[in-house]
Amino acid sequence: MKITRISAFQIDLPLKEGRYAWSNGNFVEVFDTTIVAVETDAGITGYGEACPLGPAYLPAYAAGVRAGLAQLAPSLIGQDPRQLASINRIMDAAMRGHPYVKSPIDMACWDILGKACGLPIYMLLGGAEQAQVALYRAISQQRPDEMAAKVKAYRNEGYRKFQLKVGGADADEDIARIKACAAMLEAGDILVADANTGWTMHEAARVVNGVRDVDVYIEQPCKSYEECLTIRRRTSLPFVLDEVIDGLPMLLRGLQDGAMDVINLKISKVGGLTKARQIRDLCVAQGVAMTIEDSWGGDIVTAAIAHLARSTPEEFLFSATDFNSYGTKTIAEGAPQRVNGSMTAAERPGLGIAPLAGALGASVLSVGSL
Ligand code: MG
Repeated sequence: MKITRISAFQIDLPLKEGRYAWSNGNFVEVFDTTIVAVETDAGITGYGEACPLGPAYLPAYAAGVRAGLAQLAPSLIGQDPRQLASINRIMDAAMRGHPYVKSPIDMACWDILGKACGLPIYMLLGGAEQAQVALYRAISQQRPDEMAAKVKAYRNEGYRKFQLKVGGADADEDIARIKACAAMLEAGDILVADANTGWTMHEAARVVNGVRDVDVYIEQPCKSYEECLTIRRRTSLPFVLDEVIDGLPMLLRGLQDGAMDVINLKISKVGGLTKARQIRDLCVAQGVAMTIEDSWGGDIVTAAIAHLARSTPEEFLFSATDFNSYGTKTIAEGAPQRVNGSMTAAERPGLGIAPLAGALGASVLSVGSL
């Protein structure tokens, strides 16, 4: 089987809530996502998606996905998409870094492999460790009372895990946010305060001291790994690392230092499902739980998350994300749908999704044979 054409499509994904805000005043109102279609001479087409959380979150941006794909796609024409290790080595040889550009191609090749052998991707990633995967809901940064009301409302929709966007300009207000939201929870609920690198060390130290008696996880308090490790060593609260865990070398360093209890594993942050699986398996072997998700996305990213999460043992899946429920636009049929705070991966071959007729529009990039 050979790749004959790689096409990309740009789609705007507006938010139901209108705005998603996190640390340092950052926000997004309409997500700019890129869908990739990988066509083959066997008549099978695979789909992938990459959607950065704006340009200020990770070293990734939406137009960069498309620019990178234009650079990368020619090196993949004629390659066998089922040979995921080879595909990844070719991409890494052709372009250093830029994992978020490679992720949708890798995802689409997994979709092709699943369709070619008639199996859902979760089977190819280890099998069904879970029937349903538990989701968290991100609570956009607002006033403490507004965030507490959102926690209550989303709890009524079935979510039991909540990730607060903190890392605001005022540590006192972040402490108030965490306490106000914690007051909405019941036994068994999970609360995470995610600063998204937004605190300086002294602010982080104040917050972890201020909420020391609250049952809350602290996620990525500061920008650098070293700053986070310092705060980790000053708090007894459970600790999550996200932005700085961008591949195996940082995971190995974190394991060596005992720097975290949980990591946030984002598919596009590490370059696709192939590399995310490596990290997932190492975390399972070393006793580190994971939030499995992506930077953002629509139906296709949500399907990929569901397959990786479903093939992860329950005790190591801290949570996952149903990004397609945050937006107003459906782009594919067959994508996971949240029921009572959980979702699952389809039993159909590959990702188990098909783009809706007309949803992709005209391609913005098309590389390959005629
Ligand atoms: Mg995070």
